[in-house]
Amino acid sequence: MFISFEGIDGSGKTTQARILYDTLRQSRKCILTKEPTQGDIGNFIKKLIKRKRINPMAVQLLFAADRAFHTENLIKPKLKQGCTVISDRYFFSTIAYGKASGLDEGWLRQINERFIRPDITFVFDVAPEVAMKRIASRSKGTVYFEKLKFLQNTRKVYKKLAKEYGCRVIDGSKDIDTIKEEILSIVK
Ligand code: ADP
Repeated sequence: MFISFEGIDGSGKTTQARILYDTLRQSRKCILTKEPTQGDIGNFIKKLIKRKRINPMAVQLLFAADRAFHTENLIKPKLKQGCTVISDRYFFSTIAYGKASGLDEGWLRQINERFIRPDITFVFDVAPEVAMKRIASRSKGTVYFEKLKFLQNTRKVYKKLAKEYGCRVIDGSKDIDTIKEEILSIVK
């Protein structure tokens, strides 16, 4: 089974992906992975993101290239071995962040068309104000309102994709234990 976790920064994806992984691995083969990956392209993306002026198109192409490695070298082989694969972010993130950066949605969909689809995608939905408070220490130096508007736009795209793909929308403002139970019952 392939499970992806999506949503804006600070929505709680990483926390819940880790909890699910820790639970599932007690009874089955399971891996926890994330995008950008820790491979060469993923590390390069992380470097670019840290810089202030980035080219949105180049970054999203790099995300897709990173995903090509991720799916071919890790996700697909692990699924073949019977592992449950949990990914913290996947292709929805390219579409949501790319569109919020001003890129054409059709093109973003096109460059992601060929990637394997998860069996379950959890889309974490939370108000950007809440998410930003949670990650305040991480987002030092960003201009508050610019970032807020950007996250509002990103959230909108995630919600649209969730509807279109029939994903599980998780109310990320609930407490960690409540969300954990909700996710476990869906996966089971
Ligand atoms: P993301 O991976 O979506 O960026 P994280 O899981 O890293 O989000 O969570 C961001 C911060 O919010 C962390 O400090 C985490 O402990 C906290 N957090 C995660 N989920 C919740 C929740 N449901 N309620 C309150 N705080 C949370």
